[in-house]
Amino acid sequence: MKTASKAGLYRKLPSVDEVLHRADLAEAIAREGRSAVTDAARIVLERVRKEIDAGLDAEKLDLALSGLADAIARELRSSVGYSLRPVINATGVILHTNLGRAPLAASAIENIASTAAGYSNLELDLAAGERGKRDVHVDRLFRRLFQDEARDDHQLSTIVVNNNAAAVWLALNTLAAGGEVIVSRGELVEIGGSFRIPDVMAQSNGTLREVGTTNRTRISDYEQAINEKSRLLLRVHRSNFQITGFTEQPALEDLVALAQARNIPLVEDLGSGALLDLRTVGVGGEAGVSESLRAGVDVVTYSGDKLLGGPQAGLLTGRADLIARMRKNSLFRALRVDKLTYAALEATLLAYVKGDHDAIPALRMMRASKEEIGARANKLAAQLRGLAAVEIEVLDGESVIGGGAAPSATLPTRLIAVTVKGAGADELLSRLRGAETPVIARVQDGRVLLDLRTVLPQEEATIVAAFGKTAEK
Ligand SMILES: *Cc1c(COP(=O)(O)O)cnc(C)c1O
Repeated sequence: MKTASKAGLYRKLPSVDEVLHRADLAEAIAREGRSAVTDAARIVLERVRKEIDAGLDAEKLDLALSGLADAIARELRSSVGYSLRPVINATGVILHTNLGRAPLAASAIENIASTAAGYSNLELDLAAGERGKRDVHVDRLFRRLFQDEARDDHQLSTIVVNNNAAAVWLALNTLAAGGEVIVSRGELVEIGGSFRIPDVMAQSNGTLREVGTTNRTRISDYEQAINEKSRLLLRVHRSNFQITGFTEQPALEDLVALAQARNIPLVEDLGSGALLDLRTVGVGGEAGVSESLRAGVDVVTYSGDKLLGGPQAGLLTGRADLIARMRKNSLFRALRVDKLTYAALEATLLAYVKGDHDAIPALRMMRASKEEIGARANKLAAQLRGLAAVEIEVLDGESVIGGGAAPSATLPTRLIAVTVKGAGADELLSRLRGAETPVIARVQDGRVLLDLRTVLPQEEATIVAAFGKTAEK
């Protein structure tokens, strides 16, 4: 009896072909193509078949069949929809590695689009009609930006690799392979799990020569470690931690003087590498790329998508003779970047050349005042207060730069604190992540906090919509 009724239920299932002829799927087929809709229909029908197997009754089957088109649409969204999607960053962390670091300038996005759509002179010298080098497109702009830092005895040049980790590796591999690199024990850092200075060193065929102690390293420690095998002095930015208390680190000037006296290059991994003087946004104690070059560091390495505010890239700027050696390293080819990165980087650098810092979103976010953010927060709060079951307060707080820049520095901001009746803070956070455009926020003292410093103005309406849906649940 039971098997007979199951067979009856199976017979109620339409065939894939019948489903594909349904009027309510015509639009999906036109949009996503027949093959994707066929696959989705197959998966949904198979799921219903399994449910019948597991004891689904006739009534529930009818319900499932009436929702067939919706189920196929949902399946399509997850199968042919994008996995990498835009989210709204309401955390107030400007350079958030999990959220893709720096958003790009509009000019960078336009330049990517026009470069990507067709062919370009990536490696063609248009004047000579000969093969050219991809480096020239941005090297000229870096030269302009650092023209005051070039010295009579050496010109500065810049090359681009995939990220700063690759830049550090290339510098060590080119300049130190087979010899020793002297590093302070206070700078043997780990950044983001897989980037550890000792490991990168091992991979580069250089030998690490640790000097000093965790908290104190003096210039004499470096001096005493120098021997005939020394190839490089390396200084590494303490991007994600601080050493406080009884501490000592030689001044950059002293390291430069030692490197020059012993004729050993000094390389500095700046990590974030600001091109903008951070003191203009009230953040002190963070040396920028220019400052290091002016002090006499031979090569600096830094990221393209941290404080620079551009695409993911690793930049090596320094003495032209040393940069040329890295350019000739046979593994440079494996680390080089594509035309889209050059397109984005060139547009971003042009904004610096023009002094148009507000064109670069990460810089605009850093430069936004607490008052400006407060005015936006009050407006958004008023809209959110209109929703049922939502309680709102606007309060003082702090944003952080992130991306390893000035790890202890904060920027004063205004925060929107939200509670929704019937949902705890973590539940609310998770609902916001589940919104059509996910909203990423943080929790403090049982409330969800939104920091509009990192929210683009055009995203505010989407936040209100997400809360509207969330509060309904
Ligand atoms: C961020 C950082 C890196 C890694 O840079 P990526 O561009 O993420 O590869 C290396 N060194 C320092 C000091 C950093 O802050």
